[in-house]
Amino acid sequence: MNSSNNEKNIFIVRVGEVALKGQNKPYFERMLVERIRKLLKKFSGVEVVRREGLIFVHSPKEIPKEDIIKEIKKVFGVDSISPAVKTEPDMKSIGDAAVEYMNELIREKGIKTFKVDSKRADKSFPVKSPDISRQIGASVLKGCKVLKVDVHDPDVYLYINVRHDAAYIYQQKIAGFGGLPLGTNGKGLVLLSGGIDSPVAAWMMAKRGMQIEAVHFHSYPYTSERAQAKVEELAGILAVYCSRFKMHVINMLPIQEQIVKNCPEEEMTIQLRRFMMRTAEKIARGNDCDMLITGESLGQVASQTSHSLVVTDASVQIPVMRPLIALDKSDIIEIAKDIGTYEKSIEPYEDCCTVFLPKHPLTRPRLERIERSESSMDVEALVQAAVESEEMIDIYPA
Ligand code: ATP
Ligand code: MG
Repeated sequence: MNSSNNEKNIFIVRVGEVALKGQNKPYFERMLVERIRKLLKKFSGVEVVRREGLIFVHSPKEIPKEDIIKEIKKVFGVDSISPAVKTEPDMKSIGDAAVEYMNELIREKGIKTFKVDSKRADKSFPVKSPDISRQIGASVLKGCKVLKVDVHDPDVYLYINVRHDAAYIYQQKIAGFGGLPLGTNGKGLVLLSGGIDSPVAAWMMAKRGMQIEAVHFHSYPYTSERAQAKVEELAGILAVYCSRFKMHVINMLPIQEQIVKNCPEEEMTIQLRRFMMRTAEKIARGNDCDMLITGESLGQVASQTSHSLVVTDASVQIPVMRPLIALDKSDIIEIAKDIGTYEKSIEPYEDCCTVFLPKHPLTRPRLERIERSESSMDVEALVQAAVESEEMIDIYPA
């Protein structure tokens, strides 16, 4: 098959919502191409080009196709990927290429039935789409004797896409995550615990184009160094999608000790959460983050009832995003498994929230009461000291 055209493997990458962006479309496409290039930089000789609403990736034959696909799939904004074969845009060349393509599939996968699905992006191409399908279908039947057409449930869809400079043949559309390219939608500071939820929350915001920075709270020496290492590893998995980011690490123990001293036991969790929010808000303001992101989900625990969330929110001015708010735990777990954070999240390490855990945390806290307990502490100074004690870590993709 047209081997002159084809010393490289070719992948067609389709954009999702980016395609709807109207005037801003070139900007979004550029960001997407840049991101794909960045992730494929580890392989030499790969080219990424944008042409007429599609992105084409050309990679040297020695690089396994799966490796290329695995990288492109991590890019937010990618709707689907198709490994394709390129040929001249004329019926004879397309027919020959289709026969060779299908013979290979017969050898590799033992397919028996097919259906051709054609698209003519170049409207000046003399053959209309249904006729392309019919004629190429006939060529394939002639050239691949074992194959039959099945229009209802074929083993393989043979897609033909005729464009003005070339025609492409492919059979798979491998789904990407969709979303929007990273870096097209501000920056958020995620409150990152070692649990299942917050990495998923960060990932979901990043999927909408938001850059991520993280803050992690610990209670060393009540929480271990290993517990923090686990969070760093978890962050590394996130960075695979979100690119390299900063993680601010803060010891909450001095604040927790003040809470224990000054507040009734049942208030401890909600008090701690308000301090976490305030500390995060200060870090966000100092680091160009537009909003906070948490992994809270309505009603999941005492601190996530509607009353608790209202009292938590009242401690800060900055907008707080809770992308998991209406998801069930089982849905969250499914996403965590899909993006590869789940196995790390379930490693059993202590979290600062579990230190000094009240036996009966409030589920309907009243703001006035919480504020009254708080008034015996120098909130501003405690938060300032917490922020000043921060350790900063660069997180690199795992
Ligand atoms: P997760 O699975 O994300 O730990 P969770 O269900 O355990 O969440 P909580 O422990 O109540 O819920 O925490 C709610 C949210 O508060 C977390 O999703 C996270 O955003 C933030 N958070 C909790 N603990 C920490 C921590 N140690 N450091 C940073 N953020 C935290
Ligand atoms: Mg937790």
